[in-house]
Amino acid sequence: MIYDSIGATDSEWAGKPYAAIRDTAEEDGSVLVVPVGSIEQHGHHLPVATDTILVDAVVHGGSEQVGADVPVLVTPPVWTGFSPHHLPFGGTLSLEFDHLRALLEDVALTGVENGFDAVCFVNGHGGNAALIDAVVSTVGTSTDAEVLGTTYFTLATDEIESLRDSETGGMAHGGEYETSLMLHLRPDLVADDDVRDGTVWDEHYDWGGSDLLDAGPLSVYRSFDQYSDSGAIGSPELASAEKGASIYDVVTSELAALLVAIHEHNA
Ligand SMILES: [Zn+2]
Repeated sequence: MIYDSIGATDSEWAGKPYAAIRDTAEEDGSVLVVPVGSIEQHGHHLPVATDTILVDAVVHGGSEQVGADVPVLVTPPVWTGFSPHHLPFGGTLSLEFDHLRALLEDVALTGVENGFDAVCFVNGHGGNAALIDAVVSTVGTSTDAEVLGTTYFTLATDEIESLRDSETGGMAHGGEYETSLMLHLRPDLVADDDVRDGTVWDEHYDWGGSDLLDAGPLSVYRSFDQYSDSGAIGSPELASAEKGASIYDVVTSELAALLVAIHEHNA
């Protein structure tokens, strides 16, 4: 229900009249943030909006920490991701690569037209990562604003490593990381312990990725039904709300530091 969730914070684009948006955009070193999620299956225990919920929460947490001196506005999250590899399970809504690329280009370019000095995509879905890198380049060639992109779970990975109880492979899709964050932020949407099952993926190639914290130097395309029976990969049974709170603190602080650095570089 977006109608009762807009406008809660100073950094929220969608709850403001247009003149307030332009005032912020025209400040020195202003930063526009575009969160990008997905609607895709996350096993039996998490809702399909997990990536969109988490990236939106992390972006708002980070932007609230930077304080009033840093002009930052956050657009509503783009909830449509690029998720063809999740379609076999059902519950997944996916855009074609070119459609999502065009959507993000249009949102970013019309956003920066208000006068922003920088725009940063913050992604919450591994399957979007290559596309985010691509639009950093395509938008970057079309505007004088600085264009940046990151995927939130690649931030502060050393600190997150120290919080985990799982082995490598346990913090993958719907695993210990995402389930802990959801137990912290939206426990009402997380199913009971007895359905928190995931497969710890043992990647065939030594160079491949098998964890949110370790993408590896090799990309391999596989449909998710080749990884997992439940749709989740990792160790959701090791998740806890306390761990989720710690992960949230670490990752929002790191994002806040990044936003301050972007602001200072462009001021
Ligand atoms: Zn996810």
